[in-house]
Amino acid sequence: MHTFETHIRSVPDFPKQGIIFKDITPLLQERFTEVIETMCSTIDWSQIDHVVGIESRGFILGAAMAQLKGKGFIPMRKKGKLPPPIIAEAYVLEYGTDILEMIVNEKSARVVLVDDVLATGGTLRAAMKLCERNKLEVQALSLLINLSFLNKFKEEGLPVHAPLNY
Ligand code: AMP
Repeated sequence: MHTFETHIRSVPDFPKQGIIFKDITPLLQERFTEVIETMCSTIDWSQIDHVVGIESRGFILGAAMAQLKGKGFIPMRKKGKLPPPIIAEAYVLEYGTDILEMIVNEKSARVVLVDDVLATGGTLRAAMKLCERNKLEVQALSLLINLSFLNKFKEEGLPVHAPLNY
């Protein structure tokens, strides 16, 4: 049994009032190899061609998972970072909107989508939509932490893999 939660710091009112921020940096520092192995262990890699990581903590986790499993890595970035040709998806945040972007993908492939924390699920839903529009079929969702009291991702019909659930 892993004891990852002992290395997660809960920081109240960051980055704004009312949010309890889950700081994963102590866990990455102390147990990085185990974290990556654990996140990889529940996924059926025979169904996966590439790993898609969401900027920026999804890059740290997703790139290491891709390397461990010998898969390619595709970055999904915040607006304005990737050169054309790009495909974009806007989504609504608590205040205003945000945009995720990817380089246009030509060849259909199956992917696992990786981020650090699943909170309300707005980011992940937009990321899933963007993948599907970009010929990338999402087979599984992989997070380090699922704040499952904040989202209804069970209804999405896709497996959500997360070693830490709150
Ligand atoms: P959401 O779209 O609400 O699911 O938020 C997901 C994104 O916001 C992820 O990329 C997380 O990195 C970040 N995030 C949201 N809530 C938290 C939290 N309580 N602690 C740490 N990161 C969070």
